[in-house]
Amino acid sequence: MLTVKETLRYSRQIMLPKIGEAGQLRLTHSKVLIIGLGGLGNPTALYLAAAGVGSLLLIDGDTIEVSNLPRQILFNDDDIGLSKVAVAAQKIARNNPDIVVEEIDEMLDQSLADYYIPQVDVVIDCSDNFATRQLINRHCIEHQVPLIIASATGFDGQLLMVDSNIKNSACYHCLYPEQDKEPEQNCQTLGILGPVLAIIAGMACLQAIKQLSGLPMQLNQLSLFDGLSNQWQQFSFKKQPQCPVCG
Ligand SMILES: [Zn+2]
Repeated sequence: MLTVKETLRYSRQIMLPKIGEAGQLRLTHSKVLIIGLGGLGNPTALYLAAAGVGSLLLIDGDTIEVSNLPRQILFNDDDIGLSKVAVAAQKIARNNPDIVVEEIDEMLDQSLADYYIPQVDVVIDCSDNFATRQLINRHCIEHQVPLIIASATGFDGQLLMVDSNIKNSACYHCLYPEQDKEPEQNCQTLGILGPVLAIIAGMACLQAIKQLSGLPMQLNQLSLFDGLSNQWQQFSFKKQPQCPVCG
């Protein structure tokens, strides 16, 4: 049961019939892994903590740089040079002291993925490269953990969800068969705007809250956001029977 304090704190969420006390309780007992504490991971961690997701696991081996500050809203000038996960965990604890935040100050690799992914209810991929996304996708399929993949560059963002517990759910690899090379265009070369990241992170959090509170996520669907025309486009895609990851 929720405590009196929790009932009051989360009352506006609980009053949503599709969430209710049962949904909030599920959030409270959930654990989410956020990989990457950059421009997407920052608002994602903050919103999930505020919504009362009981336990957050943050993974990132980076330190804070001055060029991060326009979009990595948990950080300020005094934090430059410090560990992203350590500062994020500290700020989140101030935002919601009732949740548990674990920090892993390392870049995700095979063994960390193998160890941490099976421990959580949902993984949110806020990483910034193909190799890490493929690694996360593989481990989420292997351990049957629902995965939300968020990314953004320039004025564009994209989002997709994978859940190998659901029959015929396609995976990231079905959509993007393994690339040997990282794209030449990324946030460092194309630039990025904080509000575009906030929109994509907001969508990722919405999917996570739905999944955790028992509402379905939209699978086999790629959502693209164009920040110049303010338009969303949805593309359906299918599980590839020959996919070496989920097929
Ligand atoms: Zn696949």
